[in-house]
Amino acid sequence: MKINNEPKLLPVRVYGDVILRIKSLPVKEFDDKLREFARDLTYTMYQRDGVGLAANQVGSTQRVFVIDTLWSREDSVPNPIVMVNPVILSGEGEYEMEEGCISVPGIFAKVKRYNYIKYSYFDTYGISHEGEAEGYDAVVIQHEYDHLDGILFVDRISKLSLLKIKRKLNAIMSTAENGQNIRTEIFKVNE
Ligand SMILES: [Zn+2]
Repeated sequence: MKINNEPKLLPVRVYGDVILRIKSLPVKEFDDKLREFARDLTYTMYQRDGVGLAANQVGSTQRVFVIDTLWSREDSVPNPIVMVNPVILSGEGEYEMEEGCISVPGIFAKVKRYNYIKYSYFDTYGISHEGEAEGYDAVVIQHEYDHLDGILFVDRISKLSLLKIKRKLNAIMSTAENGQNIRTEIFKVNE
């Protein structure tokens, strides 16, 4: 199969969409189709100004996500890392920061995660890699990894924080249930 030249902007699924709650399945074929998907996933992440994006956020149940933790900094050049079948091998310490998610537009809340992790993954050619990450980088990987197990960052916040954002979540969910793929911009305007 030949790879199409133009990267595609994939529609992003939002809170309330069942695909965000599904445990994604391991990738078995490291082929052109996977690499084309990874390219589109990466393109969509940058277009939506994200530092990470998981496959189920764009409607695919493969265990794949892309991250670029340097992207938000000024004069940064794209340096995406696509992780296929990733595993968090171990975690240590605690790190708390405010998180957001392209699938939960307009909502930000503090989440506690490991401060230091060791992980492994395959690239899109099936080559295995191991790495370690700390602080912000570790948070981004843990956030994206959660997506592959159907977990959202709002599942990890305090009950009080959840109560505060419940109305906003319901608003997002009602749109998802209508089967529409809502863009972040729409919510920003309505807030
Ligand atoms: Zn997310």
